[in-house]
Amino acid sequence: MTDLAPAECEVPPDGWGPLILGASEGAPAPAAPPSAPITPGAYLRKRRTAAALGLIQAGATMATLPWSIRRPGTTERLRCINRLTAAETDRIPFSRPEAELVRNVFAFDVEIYFQLLELHFAALGARSGSEAMALRAASGLPEPQLCRACACSWHDACVTEAGPCAWTADPTLCTACQTRPAPALAGEA
Ligand SMILES: [Zn+2]
Ligand SMILES: [Zn+2]
Repeated sequence: MTDLAPAECEVPPDGWGPLILGASEGAPAPAAPPSAPITPGAYLRKRRTAAALGLIQAGATMATLPWSIRRPGTTERLRCINRLTAAETDRIPFSRPEAELVRNVFAFDVEIYFQLLELHFAALGARSGSEAMALRAASGLPEPQLCRACACSWHDACVTEAGPCAWTADPTLCTACQTRPAPALAGEA
């Protein structure tokens, strides 16, 4: 992992967009099923939020992965924060090695991320959430079952005091999210 890691944080020029912090953090469970499908980026954001990690903290942790023997500098942290932002906004999706690396920062299912990427590309160009949902359905690709609040899934369950979460009577909500408040985010004060 060590020798490939610095390259994973390398961003093409358009991955260096401005940082917009705090816009969609810690959103509570929506009351009704969403009117637009979840994007790969939104999936990452939900899983990061479920791990109570702010964007800045997650990026800083990403920067420590490849260079764990020395403290990462501001440039390295910023590079990783920008790379994570580019993936979370679906501008530059993670490659498989990048996704495997980021999984060391917060839990998510790499297979589900790539499943969502295929669905996302199947619906690229949709002008509305409902059109995107229709295009995804027409693609014949399977939609993963995700908790609509935290985006946990079968192989990536929430860890609770009572053990791993399960599905509630509502197949889009897990037992952990049924009771818990929106997570308090670290590193985004
Ligand atoms: Zn959940
Ligand atoms: Zn869960």
